[in-house]
Amino acid sequence: MSILRVPKPVSGGLLLSYKCNSRCKHCMYACSPYWKTDWISRDDAEKVLTQLSKAFSESYPAGFSCVGLNLGLHFTGGEPFLNFPLLLELVKTADRLKIPSTFVETNCF
Ligand code: SF4
Repeated sequence: MSILRVPKPVSGGLLLSYKCNSRCKHCMYACSPYWKTDWISRDDAEKVLTQLSKAFSESYPAGFSCVGLNLGLHFTGGEPFLNFPLLLELVKTADRLKIPSTFVETNCF
């Protein structure tokens, strides 16, 4: 029997909610204003970010800060800025956990 070895992640996106102020036809997650306000819980986000921090600590040198879709961590949705208090708290959590190359994917409404 062969074993599939899944490599550690070198980048990731944390989806805060499927809720969005827009409803683009091309949206790969079918996000829209009609979704329930089912924001990720702070506990679940903390668990994910803690695991990503451990994985990233082996992939990035200290102080790495380049930004790119295949680098570091991005916060996404849906539209993350619809819940600014949650987004701000999770950005601070990512900073505390020293997650590199953090940015927010937004439609800039
Ligand atoms: S998440 Fe982005 S692509 Fe999807 S509906 Fe919102 S703005 Fe459009």
